[in-house]
Amino acid sequence: MDVADILSRWWGFDTLRPLQSEAIAAALAGRDSVVVMPTGGGKSLCYQLPPLVGDTTDVVISPLVALMKDQVDSLEAIGYPAAALYAGMEQEERQRIRDRLVAGELRLLFAAPERLVNTGLLDMLAQVGVKRFAIDEAHCISHWGHDFRPEYRQLAMLRERFPTASFHAFTATATPRVRKDIAAQLHLRDPEVLVGTFDRPNLVYRVVPRTDRIGQTLEILGRHRGEASIVYCLSRRETEDLASRLAAEGILARPYHAGLNTGQRHATQEAFARETIDVVVATVAFGMGIDRSNVRLVLHTSLPKSLEAYQQETGRAGRDGLAAECVLLYSSADVFSWESLVRKSVDESDLEPDEAARLLASTVEHLHAMRRYAQAARCRHATLSEYFGQPYPHATCDACDVCLGETESLPDSMITAQKIISCVARVEERFGVRHVCEVLRGAKTEGITRHGHERLSTYGLLPLLDQRAAENLVHQLLDQELLSRSGGDRPVVTLNARSWEVLRGERQVVLLQPRAGRAKTAKADADDWSGVDRDLFERLRTWRRRVADARGKPAWTIFDDKSLRAIAREKPGSPAALLRCKGIGEKRLADFGAAILDLIAGKEPS
Ligand code: ADP
Repeated sequence: MDVADILSRWWGFDTLRPLQSEAIAAALAGRDSVVVMPTGGGKSLCYQLPPLVGDTTDVVISPLVALMKDQVDSLEAIGYPAAALYAGMEQEERQRIRDRLVAGELRLLFAAPERLVNTGLLDMLAQVGVKRFAIDEAHCISHWGHDFRPEYRQLAMLRERFPTASFHAFTATATPRVRKDIAAQLHLRDPEVLVGTFDRPNLVYRVVPRTDRIGQTLEILGRHRGEASIVYCLSRRETEDLASRLAAEGILARPYHAGLNTGQRHATQEAFARETIDVVVATVAFGMGIDRSNVRLVLHTSLPKSLEAYQQETGRAGRDGLAAECVLLYSSADVFSWESLVRKSVDESDLEPDEAARLLASTVEHLHAMRRYAQAARCRHATLSEYFGQPYPHATCDACDVCLGETESLPDSMITAQKIISCVARVEERFGVRHVCEVLRGAKTEGITRHGHERLSTYGLLPLLDQRAAENLVHQLLDQELLSRSGGDRPVVTLNARSWEVLRGERQVVLLQPRAGRAKTAKADADDWSGVDRDLFERLRTWRRRVADARGKPAWTIFDDKSLRAIAREKPGSPAALLRCKGIGEKRLADFGAAILDLIAGKEPS
């Protein structure tokens, strides 16, 4: 069978995504590869499909048991013979899998890295003639990645042990340094390097100044009633407080953080997977292993510490390709909290001084990139793409607050900018953001009195602004490089050549002010729902939840939302028509066809 046939018969997909074709071609040709695709890009298909072409048994190395189990569940739902070996399995179950492996029944075997190197498993793999290894989350092998795992280093010996096999590394971490390191560590031979597009057009990005964490969270969740949402907080305490506030409002929400015991964490993950709860309020401990593809909202109530982290965390939204929203509640105070937190932990660590300095500098650099993203008056898709080294090809994205016109420029931006810059000059470029703003607002502080700054001509020039709004404007000028800031412990704001151009009126300035009011509907969202019978969609979801419960499987492994929406849009009237819907292959048709046709006909499913 050829690739296209396999794709439609097993997965019910019409086409491969461009990079998937190339990755699969490399796998089939036995050529080593490094495949870099953002979360949701479709990496798994690249190693799931090839073994079906020649009925081989391939091995996938994966760092997390939860990830493996989810994938095996999804594969079993389409009748694909796959199994996972990990620590803590029942002896009997392990033996059953080994028997299936030796009998050549498995197309994919998932294994944790420590399983592979410490057991007789390697002999068995050699015996069945394994010819392809996929290494998932391959950045775990690199010190330069964000999630180094020492046990991944041992994978280096696989090349020696299986000299004729091909190796295929998969990761969502984009930096060239990590990519190179992966290839070197795994001893890849002239690998094909395939790098995907980092932009996620179906994600709608918004940044909202944080004024009221709970109120704003409730308002934003209100746009996603009954849908899967992840709300990220900085501290364990915050997750618990916020989750109980949401629960009090009747929202099905639970907290998740590393301080909960394994049982509690597992129960929350399961409830989210089975769709019995809608919202998880979590620290960043929640994420790896969360494969739910229909997450419609990722809300950050505090600033993530880098754009890499933000890209990864928001990457959990809309993996089914349907529109999803990513909102960041921003306060510049978070930048300072992060900086002092990192300073403290570096001070308390036993790092060498220059190592500590390097770590600190890199943290600050990452934070500032994050802040620039939050404060810039630029398309968020463009800002993110460019940060990851890819030019953004569109003039507007129609999928961020800036392009949707939800942000508004300050009517007298130019004059306000000139007032701020003059004030920096008047305080002789010797003070930080806070003091400059206090002077502009005409505040009465001890510092102002001590320096006699109430006598400056710029004192009280912006009396109507509160401190937070004033600081926000100064940060916008810093982010647009119309002002500069010294490094060090007590950074001061200084002028640069562009500041003078603004003062002389030679350079125009646009400052943003947030617009009150509702978020608009992004085009992508409207498209995804067009023609969908929402009532039928909800009935299909309820049915899916029942099936998932009965099978003890995550709901999205039964069907993803995209398939359900396609059904609720096209309302096929026969098995043949159903087979033409995306996401329905032969196995799903056999298992669920009758029930779905009943639901479409308005009957109780048989
Ligand atoms: P990753 O592992 O890169 O984060 P996944 O492999 O989980 O991404 O794929 C993300 C989503 O895209 C899944 O819901 C998957 O079913 C879907 N998908 C992958 N490839 C295709 C394709 N060729 N056509 C349609 N949907 C696809």
